[in-house]
Amino acid sequence: MTHPAQPKASHFINGAYVEDTAGTPIPVIYAATGEQIATVYAATPTIIEQALSTAKAAQKEWAKMTGTERGRILRRAADIMRERNHDLSVLETYDTGKPLQETLVADATSGADALEYFGGLAASLTGEHIPLGEDWVYTKREALGLCVGIGAWNYPTQIACWKGAPALACGNSMVFKPSETTPLCALKVAEILIEAGAPAGVFNVVQGMGEVGGALVTDPRVDKVSLTGSVPTGKKVYAAAAAGMKHVTMELGGKSPLIIFDDADIDNAVGGAINGNFYSSGQVCSNGTRVFVQKGIKEKFLARLAERTGNAILGDPMDEATSFGPMVTENQMNIVLGYIEKGKEEGARVICGGARADMDGYYIQPTVFADVTDEMTIAREEIFGPVMSVLDFDTEEEVVARANDTEFGLSAGVFTKDFTRAHRVIGNLEAGSCFINSYNDAPVEAPFGGVKASGVGRENSKEAIKHFSQVKSVYVRMGDVEAAF
Ligand code: NAD
Repeated sequence: MTHPAQPKASHFINGAYVEDTAGTPIPVIYAATGEQIATVYAATPTIIEQALSTAKAAQKEWAKMTGTERGRILRRAADIMRERNHDLSVLETYDTGKPLQETLVADATSGADALEYFGGLAASLTGEHIPLGEDWVYTKREALGLCVGIGAWNYPTQIACWKGAPALACGNSMVFKPSETTPLCALKVAEILIEAGAPAGVFNVVQGMGEVGGALVTDPRVDKVSLTGSVPTGKKVYAAAAAGMKHVTMELGGKSPLIIFDDADIDNAVGGAINGNFYSSGQVCSNGTRVFVQKGIKEKFLARLAERTGNAILGDPMDEATSFGPMVTENQMNIVLGYIEKGKEEGARVICGGARADMDGYYIQPTVFADVTDEMTIAREEIFGPVMSVLDFDTEEEVVARANDTEFGLSAGVFTKDFTRAHRVIGNLEAGSCFINSYNDAPVEAPFGGVKASGVGRENSKEAIKHFSQVKSVYVRMGDVEAAF
């Protein structure tokens, strides 16, 4: 019997599901059991051509609609997503293995937030009038054209909406390629947009591995590429986009610092460290995986952290009581277990976890290492799993320097009751998305993105509009033209 997660077909192009079984089969594995629940096929050159030519043609008409009309469609799509939140959350859980307890509140809901927010902004995207005596200049905010979105596997619904919603609000069309690991959810976003009244072809989904992404990025018809992925992939995609002088947004990896001063509320700081390391089993790009704890509260912090981490409920992700799910794939589980072994070998102290969980599926125990030093591999490389490194520090100056000593710069957090210090420290940290006495909040109203190797551009908020549109300026002469000859 066909599993309910199996989509009607692999791709969604020009308003309809499309199949081409000549492409490489991509098995979809449910991470909680290891069973294959669906198959999709990577896009063939024919499918890629269909998607790009359709999106190119559809964009012109879409951009001619008023912002109010485009916005209404996006807001209707948001309503449909909210009405179907339960089913979409179950699908997200099948796609990623993340527990339903999370997906019910974090995935289709945040996708709907993006559709609603950018739907609301669509009608207010205007230019300005610049008076120059008798003459004047006016500016227009125009769409970029055809945009390509490429997703990572941790938030397949959210990533499709975070890219699709601002792109469409500005009058662009999009071809979206989900991660080959989680190909299911973006198809639902495409389906819902059509149901909400989007013209066929403005949002298309094609499946495939890196080669399909590469073919999309290098196509001369494409004006913009927005990638969520790792730094090595980001470098390749950025270079390919540069060759065609295309616009880019790069949402890449991180190794973010979370700094806890000794005056912090311990339970809030522990809560921040848990949210910033164990949500989605640690598969979150902005995670605060280097937790710097001031020496005075180190043992108290570790004791409370171990106690609360012990309350994590590992189990069937479809059971709403489960608060901690498996790694997305067996491969990702093995990568993370490799880092855990490295941490032990290099002398870090295991406070809790430190091994695969004794159950079916790709579960790793939430793991905390203490006595981690800056040179250890687990303190330098992005692990993308439930592995928290706790490092000690003495002074503010020292911890800021150590926190910044990394190629990454996605997020940073600080816990302290001293507000002057909180703002000073955040001001000195090299990161794009920061938190004071909190960690990992990502409301659509706030800009999200990194500095240094963690990325270029911003998603969400009014900032995203700048990255999906461009300004045309028009000089208008009211009198005669003077010329030298
Ligand atoms: P990945 O870099 O392996 O893949 C990302 C996407 O790029 C996939 O869809 C993949 O098929 C595609 N791709 C791979 N090679 C390509 C190429 N040459 N041309 C075009 N596309 C190509 O990343 P992943 O393993 O899926 O995701 C985990 C990474 O994503 C982590 O580093 C994580 O930090 C990062 N991430 C960042 C954010 C953010 O918003 N900053 C959010 C989630 C994940």
